[in-house]
Amino acid sequence: MKFGKLTATVKDVGGIEVARLLPKGGKRTVGAWCFLDHIGPAVFSDGLGGMQVGLHPHIGLQTFTWMLEGEQLHRDSLGSEVCVSPGQLALMTAGTGRRHGICHTEQTPEGVPRVHAVQLWIALPPRREIAPDFEYHAQLPQWSEGGASFVLTTGSFAGRTAPTGQYSPLLGVDVRFSEAQTWRFPVRPHWEYGILVIDGEAQVGGMKFAANEMAVWSDSDGFAEIRAAAGTHIMLLGGEPLAEQVLMWWNFVAYSRDDLAQAVADWNGGHPRFGTIDLRGTGLQRIDAPDLPQTAVR
Ligand code: MN
Repeated sequence: MKFGKLTATVKDVGGIEVARLLPKGGKRTVGAWCFLDHIGPAVFSDGLGGMQVGLHPHIGLQTFTWMLEGEQLHRDSLGSEVCVSPGQLALMTAGTGRRHGICHTEQTPEGVPRVHAVQLWIALPPRREIAPDFEYHAQLPQWSEGGASFVLTTGSFAGRTAPTGQYSPLLGVDVRFSEAQTWRFPVRPHWEYGILVIDGEAQVGGMKFAANEMAVWSDSDGFAEIRAAAGTHIMLLGGEPLAEQVLMWWNFVAYSRDDLAQAVADWNGGHPRFGTIDLRGTGLQRIDAPDLPQTAVR
């Protein structure tokens, strides 16, 4: 079993401090999960506006927004407009290839004084034509057992299956331990796994993990274990390893540098593949893509 620990890099996203855990140095993906921001928890006073992310595009990925506190207003170029509340999931599919794309904005609605969420990206598989799409799941399978409560955000676990669409085999389980315990759970051989500590303290593989640290491992078989302190909140992620290494630049994910370069040129040139949304009255701006560097992009 290969086992590691990731610690967060702090970033500013739309005015809010986020802890970025993926991609991270040599560790780029857990299954098809290729990006992880733990957003907040942040509380802000009146008039500060919370998180305000202007209009930006995506290709080659799905954005997976798991709300924990506060609200987030999602608008995209498919015409979706949804206010995502705690316990709800927004899953936006950008589409693949050089014909597809999507753009969106994310905002804390006026008068909402807090934000806390985990936003992940899922790399779409190579050589498949996938069109843009948006799913909103107001209800997901949830249960309590043995001093812990669970929400299944994607995949199958403990005899349940989430309604969340998938393009590759993935697992996402939110777990809150109300009692200190050792939790043993089944894992699949050859899958990659990660445990993000959202709050509290845990031990995995003999190492201690605090909030905004993440355990990652692969090639385990049968079962894995976590020792969690009372009040600990984690997100368990898993997935089948990607068959090919993804390339990432800015908000784009692809399997070729040319596809990334094309996406930068198309977005900055106003190409209709990304669609648009009306920004009037939102206070948000359209964000230009930075040029792709000449050096290799990983
Ligand atoms: Mn985005």
